[in-house]
Amino acid sequence: MRHDVPVRVRLVYLPVCQRRATTPAPLRIAPSLRERPSFLAHAGCGRHAPPPPKVKFFFWLGLHGRLWTSERRARHGLQQSPTCVLCDQLDETHDHLLAACVYTREVWLCILSTFALGHLTPTADDTLLEWWLRTRARFHDDLQKAFDTLVLLVSWMLWKERNRRVFDDDPSPATTLLDRVKEEADSWIAAGFRSLAAFASLVP
Ligand SMILES: [Zn+2]
Repeated sequence: MRHDVPVRVRLVYLPVCQRRATTPAPLRIAPSLRERPSFLAHAGCGRHAPPPPKVKFFFWLGLHGRLWTSERRARHGLQQSPTCVLCDQLDETHDHLLAACVYTREVWLCILSTFALGHLTPTADDTLLEWWLRTRARFHDDLQKAFDTLVLLVSWMLWKERNRRVFDDDPSPATTLLDRVKEEADSWIAAGFRSLAAFASLVP
């Protein structure tokens, strides 16, 4: 589902990472990741393994519009506000939450910039499926698997952040979520998700 974004919102979007990307050293816009790319340090550890089934199922639900987002809950009369809890600007559709939201794009920009791939960050007009398929097509086969795993992991962490805000009233900035993504990636790699570490070859 594509979400039309008002021009007013596009004009106010200027995530921290993007502002830093205007400096002479654009590849250093995610210093915490570059100083300790810990989930890359485990390359070679463990066996190859697929993403956790619960995360794959979550992602399947997201692609098929089956997650109980605020927009879906409001559409079914389960709550009043359809607004995204990550940005408090637009309706929380699946595609908005997992691809087009300003918060989501800031997280992706920081992560992808670590690999000098910041230009592959989703846009405000992308659907999750469009962006995922378009971006994975830029990689060779082995890296496509790594990218798929990375998309599942980050989407899962975004969903957990969304739920943390909804149920615990405990919002975290994008920088904190990035730290959680790194920790989760570490645990996935330690558990055998070796393909995730393949992105190490992309670090400039
Ligand atoms: Zn949002």
